[in-house]
Amino acid sequence: MPKQNTICSNPVKKYIEQAKSFHGYAAPGIIIGGFMVDLAYQHLPEGVLLDAISETQVCLPDALQLLTHCTVGNGWLKVIDLGRFALTLYDPNNGNGIRVYVNPAKLEKWPEIKNWFFKLVPKKEQDTQRLMKQIQEAGSDICDYEKVKVKLNKVTKKHHSNLGICSRCKESYPVADGDVCLGCQGKAPYLNK
Ligand SMILES: [Zn+2]
Repeated sequence: MPKQNTICSNPVKKYIEQAKSFHGYAAPGIIIGGFMVDLAYQHLPEGVLLDAISETQVCLPDALQLLTHCTVGNGWLKVIDLGRFALTLYDPNNGNGIRVYVNPAKLEKWPEIKNWFFKLVPKKEQDTQRLMKQIQEAGSDICDYEKVKVKLNKVTKKHHSNLGICSRCKESYPVADGDVCLGCQGKAPYLNK
C-alpha cells in the first residue's frame, strides 16, 4: 500500500505542524486522528455539513477540531467518553455517518504503534522517531470504518432556556438544576469555592 501523503487534501507535514501548535506537541494520537478523519471523509457525501463525535477525551477531539468545522465550543463536536479510540462524522439531519476506529488486529504489522497504543513500553523507553515513522507509513491502514446511524436525541445541543441567579454564588445558572447552581451543590472542582 503506498504511503499516504495527505490528510484532508493537505500535506501530512503541514498537518503535523498545525497539530504541534494547536495541541502543544505532535502527539501520536492526534496524527493517527488526522488519518482517521481523512478516512471518514472518503466515505461521506461531499457538500454536507457534518457533525462529529469523539469516543475518547484524548487526542481525537483535537484532530476533529483541526480538520473540521466542529468544535466543542460550537457544539458540533460531542465528546462521549466511551474510552474507545474512535470517531464519527455524520449528517445531523438524518444521523447517517461513518465511524472510524483503530482495529487492534491491524496493529500486529506495526509493532511500535502497538506498543504505544496499548502502553506496552514505558514512555521513556519508547522509540518516538520509529513510532512517528510507522504512524506516517501506516496512515489509515490501522483503521477500519463502518456505517452508523447516530441517535440524534443523544447528541443534540442542550439549550438552557430558563436562567436564574444562584442565591449562593450570585452567578447565572439553569434553574432546572435546582435551588442553587450545580457548582454550589458541591459539583465544582475547587477546594476553596
Ligand atoms: Zn451557585
